[in-house]
Amino acid sequence: MEEAEVFAKLNQLQEKLTERFSLEEEIVKLPRDLRVKQELLDKINKEYIEENDKSEVAKDELKSLRIQYDDAVHARENSEKQMELINTQREFEALEKEIKDAASKEQSLLKQVHAKEKQVNEFSEHLTEKEQLMLLQTNEVNAESSKIGNLLTTKKALLNKVIAACEGYIGNDISEELFIKFCNIVKNKKGKGIVPIHGLICQGCHIVLPIQFVNDVRSQTQIDFCPYCSRILYYEDVEGAEEQFKKHVEDADIEDSGLANFVDSSEFDDLL
Ligand SMILES: [Zn+2]
Repeated sequence: MEEAEVFAKLNQLQEKLTERFSLEEEIVKLPRDLRVKQELLDKINKEYIEENDKSEVAKDELKSLRIQYDDAVHARENSEKQMELINTQREFEALEKEIKDAASKEQSLLKQVHAKEKQVNEFSEHLTEKEQLMLLQTNEVNAESSKIGNLLTTKKALLNKVIAACEGYIGNDISEELFIKFCNIVKNKKGKGIVPIHGLICQGCHIVLPIQFVNDVRSQTQIDFCPYCSRILYYEDVEGAEEQFKKHVEDADIEDSGLANFVDSSEFDDLL
């Protein structure tokens, strides 16, 4: 098998892996919306329980106020009846005061009863509103839950197929070790695990690579990884790249012969 074909296979595998990673991400993200909706429902439930407790307390207070009010009414009525039985002016004045006090207490309690009734009604209205809200939210959670459940089943089935397709690439050309390494590179490098070299430049990290290394990559005898970004490299001829490569080689030759050092040296400036 030619190296070029291995690169082609790796490129195809890369597409499948990208599909796989994006599916895996979707599967993790999917239940998030449901969780948000469920949290809102839990919050409404909690508020309902708290409000209901307060409402029950208010109802008990109302009951007790009504009893106190009824007692006050009876007390006043009794005092009024006793009016028929009194004989002296002194008894009359005492009783009249008693009736006045009883009536005043009765009026005060009546006011409290009305205020408490208002409060109980308000609680009841709030609770009805909350019940409706809870019902809506419960329906929404149920709908979302079944929608997500179906979607998850579909996505997971698809993911299994994609994983199987990816693993189908493991064989003579792509060893299991290379497969695992490549999966990690594609994942860590956002879907780009295999990139070309143009001239001397890695198209993944855009760093200039050593000439000897690029020559090795060009010879296509093995799988080479970029020493800077770890991506798998292959040489690609593009317009101008070959000239760029040759220029780098020539520059390197000059450097090797020591001419570059001479040209760059300050002594040379003095000579001019
Ligand atoms: Zn690189």
